[in-house]
Amino acid sequence: MAVIGGGNSGIEAAIDLAGIVEHVTVLEFADTLRADEVLQRKARSMANIDIISSAMTTEVLGDGNRVTGLTWEDRTNGQLNQLNVAGIFVQIGLMPNTEWLGDSIALTDRGEIPVDNRGQTSVPGVFAAGDVTDAAYKQIIIAMGSGATASLGAFDHLIRSSADQELEAVA
Ligand SMILES: Cc1cc2nc3c(=O)[nH]c(=O)nc-3n(C[C@H](O)[C@H](O)[C@H](O)COP(=O)(O)OP(=O)(O)OC[C@H]3O[C@@H](n4cnc5c(N)ncnc54)[C@H](O)[C@@H]3O)c2cc1C
Repeated sequence: MAVIGGGNSGIEAAIDLAGIVEHVTVLEFADTLRADEVLQRKARSMANIDIISSAMTTEVLGDGNRVTGLTWEDRTNGQLNQLNVAGIFVQIGLMPNTEWLGDSIALTDRGEIPVDNRGQTSVPGVFAAGDVTDAAYKQIIIAMGSGATASLGAFDHLIRSSADQELEAVA
C-alpha cells in the first residue's frame, strides 16, 4: 500500500494499515514529515513502513481494472521512480469551502469557522456545525453532535430575541 502525505492523517493511516497489510510506503512532498513526533516515532518503529520524503507523486498506474502502482519524482534530483502497490490512500488534507463567506464571518487562518459552545459564529444569529468549523476532530459523530448543538443554539437565540422584541414592544 502507499499513503500519500506525511501529516498526522497520513502517518495515522500508515500505522493502521501496517497492522493489516504486508507493507506500507509513505510518500511526503516536503523534506520532513509534518506529523506529530509521537506518530513519527511509532511509524518508524514499525518494520513494514517505509517513509520517503521530498517525493512528489506524479501518476497513479493501473491495468484498467485496478491500481498497480504509482510514479513519483524525487524532488532533490528530479529522478522519476515507480512504486508497485495494490492500493493508494491519499491523505493530503482538505480545505473548508468557505471562500464564499468573504469577510462576513470570522475565519481561522485555515479557513475554518470558529464557533462558541452553542455553535454560534462571530455573527450573532449565524450558526455553524461540522467539519467546516474549528472543531478539533473531523468525524461523523462529532459533526452530528455539533449540528444538534447549533440547532439548539439557534432555537435559544430565536426564543431570546423574540422575547426581547416583545419586551421592547411593551415598553
Ligand atoms: C476519505 C474520508 C474518509 C472519512 N472516514 C471517516 C470515518 O471512517 N469515520 C468518520 O467518523 N468520519 C470520516 N470522515 C469524516 C466525515 O466524512 C466528516 O467528518 C463528515 O462528513 C462531516 O460532515 P459535515 O456535514 O460537516 O460535512 P460534509 O459531509 O463535507 O458535508 C458538507 C456538505 O455541504 C455541501 N456544501 C459545501 N459548500 C456548500 C455551499 N456553498 N452551499 C451548499 N452546500 C454546500 C457539500 O456539497 C456537502 O454535501 C472521512 C472523511 C473523508 C474525506
